[in-house]
Amino acid sequence: MGMVEAIQKAGVVGAGGAGFPTHVKLNAKAEYLIINAAECEPLIETDKYLCRTFPERIVSTVLKMKEHLGAAHAVIALKGKYIKEIEALEQAITAAGADVEIFKMRAYYPAGDEQVLVHQVTGRVVPERGLPLNVGCVVENVGTVLSIADALEDKPVQEKYLSVTGAVKKPVMCLAPLGTPIREVLAKAELLVKRYAVIMGGPMMGKMLSDEAAIDQAVVTKTTGNLLVLPEDHYLVRRAVRPVSQMMRQAATACLQCRACTDLCPRSLLGHHVEPHMVMRSIWRKDSITDPAEFERALGSAVNCSSCGTCEMFSCPMGLSPRKMNDYAKTLLRERGIQPEKNQNPAASGEIEHRRIPTERLIARLGLSAYVYHGDLELYRVEPEEVFVPMSQHIGKPAVPAVSEGDTVKAGDLAGAAAEGLSANIYTGLGGTVTEVTPQGIRIRRREA
Ligand code: SF4
Ligand code: SF4
Repeated sequence: MGMVEAIQKAGVVGAGGAGFPTHVKLNAKAEYLIINAAECEPLIETDKYLCRTFPERIVSTVLKMKEHLGAAHAVIALKGKYIKEIEALEQAITAAGADVEIFKMRAYYPAGDEQVLVHQVTGRVVPERGLPLNVGCVVENVGTVLSIADALEDKPVQEKYLSVTGAVKKPVMCLAPLGTPIREVLAKAELLVKRYAVIMGGPMMGKMLSDEAAIDQAVVTKTTGNLLVLPEDHYLVRRAVRPVSQMMRQAATACLQCRACTDLCPRSLLGHHVEPHMVMRSIWRKDSITDPAEFERALGSAVNCSSCGTCEMFSCPMGLSPRKMNDYAKTLLRERGIQPEKNQNPAASGEIEHRRIPTERLIARLGLSAYVYHGDLELYRVEPEEVFVPMSQHIGKPAVPAVSEGDTVKAGDLAGAAAEGLSANIYTGLGGTVTEVTPQGIRIRRREA
């Protein structure tokens, strides 16, 4: 079986982002293979842990991927301040005599954005709404590399490494079967607060769970890399629950048109047409703009926004929400069938290096300085009594349940088969009895020995 087939069979998807099926991404030839170990968001520990713990496995798999892609360069990109991780990878590279480079980045946000990374490593700019492959690059997260290593040994994706950070006595690393309730993962850390919210992912782009019911229902998926615990009255929690109508009123009344959101926008700095200040100027009068050309001029740049959050979490002096307004404008543009043209040859601004947002300043701005941790993390294996394995843990169509109620399954069995088209297989990491099957997911209860 070839590499692409093995990856497809194992259900590998991007572990660090939205979960794009990896067999589609790797079905290509590229000049550069770039491994993203930059840990884009603050207070996530998983990529660092993987680099420290599995450097040889990462390097040997990168070499196989490089050969498969016919790539002239294989580069592992991570922040220069990750001293131990760089040492571990360099030792593994030397021991293997591997032609793999380490690229050391400054600590800024969003260092791990695929397009920012491609520009940093190669000097090339991905076209608007394009892919790294458009400029000869394939970018994979370091966690995905380890899933590929497993796939090449016929082991499917069935469990996930994820860190628990924030308002905890000490951050921990957990290994949990897919579908594990996040409450069980949180139980491995000593929480410092009784009433809390959880961000699945990082503070900039993660999913906020601010009420008990949402936390009760959330489970670990292939893309869950971190749980950030925050006191329920933390600034980020209060901010996340603002309704869109309120944000729109604020855009109309409080936006200074200072342009800071646009001037510091990482995509705008890459030369993409992104102008959040223009969107803020017009979003509140959206219903009165009837001419499609005028609508596109006013709000069209929103389509190139990556939702990184820099504008609203860092740049805006008024604490407004240009990202959310861009997200809203994208929906309006879709509804009106407006598709702005793509710039295929954007050129990065000469200011790009001076305008990067230092991670430390961002952490302070977010009110998270108290949660920064520099030690190593202890690993806990999470062994739940029950899992709910979602059929949609990736971009594309949900998988189709491959088991029936009452079936007995073991860890590593197929739970959902990839649908036609863009989709991915889903496996269970827990053996037991299937107690519920719906198009949304499969519930499995551990079976007593
Ligand atoms: S940074 Fe804030 S105040 Fe300034 S233009 Fe952007 S949204 Fe308006
Ligand atoms: S969220 Fe804001 S800073 Fe980020 S790409 Fe969109 S407009 Fe730019």
